Amino acid sequence: MGDSQMQEHESDWIRQPVRDGIVDGHCGICGSACAVRIHLEDGKIQRLPPRPNHPHGITCRRITRVHDIVYSPQRLLYPQRGTGPRGTRQLSRISWDEALDHTADVLRDIAIALANKLGYGHLSPRNVDEMVEWAFEGTGLGLEELRRHPEGIELPHAPMQYRKWEKGLLRPNGKPGFDTPSSKYEIASTILQRYGYASLPVFSPPAEGPLGSPKLTQRYPLVFNSGSRNKVFFNSQHHHVPSLVKRYPQPVVRIHPGDAEPRSIVEGDKVVVATPRGRVTYTAHVTENILPGVVEADAHGGGYLAAPAWKQCNANELTDHDNRDPLSGFPVYKALLCQVSKAEQGESGGAADAGRPETRETP
Ligand code: SF4
Repeated sequence: MGDSQMQEHESDWIRQPVRDGIVDGHCGICGSACAVRIHLEDGKIQRLPPRPNHPHGITCRRITRVHDIVYSPQRLLYPQRGTGPRGTRQLSRISWDEALDHTADVLRDIAIALANKLGYGHLSPRNVDEMVEWAFEGTGLGLEELRRHPEGIELPHAPMQYRKWEKGLLRPNGKPGFDTPSSKYEIASTILQRYGYASLPVFSPPAEGPLGSPKLTQRYPLVFNSGSRNKVFFNSQHHHVPSLVKRYPQPVVRIHPGDAEPRSIVEGDKVVVATPRGRVTYTAHVTENILPGVVEADAHGGGYLAAPAWKQCNANELTDHDNRDPLSGFPVYKALLCQVSKAEQGESGGAADAGRPETRETP
């Protein structure tokens, strides 16, 4: 991106009356939105210390790279819309209003299609106006009033109430207690019990693991974990920012020395992590900070804009879409099986080494 584009970008996104001085705001690099005091000079951020006296009180290390992130030449500056066949990345610039309208239209269509599919189409709002009316139902506000106040409407705040359960403020019948079937604060859930689940957490071995699938464990003897946080990036974000990539140049798999040694793996080796779904090449980090028999592989790689080492390393190729927590439906990232071996010359992984049926076995 040239200077003129960067200038356009800067004037486009910093729409604040203060170009020089200090304003209070929030860091927008990740969803934590830490409170910061923004020091500006000529419209550009100079420093972002935590906001004094704010209960949050701290920021993380990522914020020290705010310049590289906010002023990155690869940062998306304005909305674009695909104009060519799917996958060609032919894009043309559109206005924010067009982007908002388009997004609202698409979300509406998805919501209506979903409602129809579930058999509730007759109850589903048909357009954005109906959706807004529905969302505000029972609040005393309607679309017309919202339109009359584009600046926003501040609703009166009820004073904070403490010990609501003693005053009958939690249950629809106004009696003291909690809004649970037993009216008590339930540690053992009577709702889960009613639906046939254990009312308290119980341990059951993961479907794919040394106890749940011993036969598969013979081929994939290590327990595979992924998804832990690192302090340099924010999930899949910022893998394209040079100064951050310099600090964490490639994704690693942590492996205990007792598991590395018999595999002839030493620190920094290229290794292939294989699961029944795929093979992905990582850099080995041999460390006693992980249990023997367990590995932890960096997740969040595979992004389109990421630096090559991160782009090529997608832990999702190793996990299993069908293996989900039976109660919550959450996918299992931390209790799977894998094998780790030294990579052959030029091996980059990615292809499945076995068919999906092998991802499960009857215990
Ligand atoms: S990047 Fe760091 S400072 Fe910014 S919001 Fe997230 S945790 Fe807070």
